[in-house]
Amino acid sequence: MSAPIQLDAAATTPLDARVREAMSVWLGERSANPSSRHGPGARARAALDEARERIARASGARAADVVFTSGATEANNLAVLGAARARTKHGRHLAVGASEHASVREPALALAREGFEVAWLPLGPDGLVDLERAAGLLREDTVLVAQMLVHNESGAVHPVRELARLVRRRAPRAHLHVDAVQALGKLELSLPALGVDSLALSAHKVHGPQGAGALVLAGNPPLAPLCFGGEQERGLRPGTENVAGLVGFGLAAELAESERPRFSAAAARWRSEFLAGLADFEGWRVLEPAVQVPSILGLVAPEPPAEIRRNQLEARGLITGAGSACQATKRGLSPSLAALGLSEVEIRRFLRLSLSRESVACDPAAVLGALRMVDEELSRLARSAR
Ligand code: PMP
Repeated sequence: MSAPIQLDAAATTPLDARVREAMSVWLGERSANPSSRHGPGARARAALDEARERIARASGARAADVVFTSGATEANNLAVLGAARARTKHGRHLAVGASEHASVREPALALAREGFEVAWLPLGPDGLVDLERAAGLLREDTVLVAQMLVHNESGAVHPVRELARLVRRRAPRAHLHVDAVQALGKLELSLPALGVDSLALSAHKVHGPQGAGALVLAGNPPLAPLCFGGEQERGLRPGTENVAGLVGFGLAAELAESERPRFSAAAARWRSEFLAGLADFEGWRVLEPAVQVPSILGLVAPEPPAEIRRNQLEARGLITGAGSACQATKRGLSPSLAALGLSEVEIRRFLRLSLSRESVACDPAAVLGALRMVDEELSRLARSAR
């Protein structure tokens, strides 16, 4: 059997061979603790500094403002919990995007259990955060606002820059955090241009290793650490850094940025070819937020639930996502899909195709062919069950 076509890049992407190569020496002969004062330690520190520079360049920040973490889940937790807890003298009100990833939503809910009040920023009918309604929810005592840039299920590109202006006017004491995981390598990313206080990034969404990420800060905003111990990462994230992983992250981010124009153009071509073919299918709906990245296609398929369709597609060599990987392990239905306006039935039939630099080279016709075959198989099964 030929290798499966991986259309679940929003969940993770394959490690780039150049990244693997760059990482390997730090897992082998050059492995050292970057806090050690001997030669090998200093060399590990220099490699980490270079990775920091690269992440800074990819996000328009200063190297000193990059706090390395174990991934975006940790970066989101640090931003949400850390910023809110550091600002309690100004208030206990949070405003959080209704369709945020669980790693933002769940810490906000944890804060609600600590006595914070959470307002959920709703999406408008165009699939983007509704700025007018957001304006009505922001307050003088709002201490944290969190809104992601690119949505992991719909591909929506939220108007974060406009939200930032609103936050500065209406909630001047708030820390504005942005989960930019799905934006890296897809959009030009600049923390100062967005006018936000922090960005969460993750390596494995851009052909880097799993378990490496960063919280990129605008200067030195008040932030209460989640862990205590050493002085690493400004004391905000103590513990020996994952040198190999972060070296890989640095290179992966640089490659994602340099290959971004080519990837975006290829993803746009892929998408339009795919959607032209899908128009002949019955009972499929495409989520089309007003502004979106081309590489994420949120689809509502016909009966039966997407899990079944996904398994059938996998048997035909096509890996797809039914709901984001993190949500899928949770009980119940994805609240972020509900926030996108999907009914319960539609949420159960939600199927996501997402492209990486590798899978964008696959033929959309082959994918449509597999979808067609599975469509036919499933309707045959449904007929014989009647
Ligand atoms: N935010 C978004 C939007 C994501 O898609 C993901 C990955 N599913 C995360 C956060 C979590 O990233 P990580 O896997 O690095 O913890």
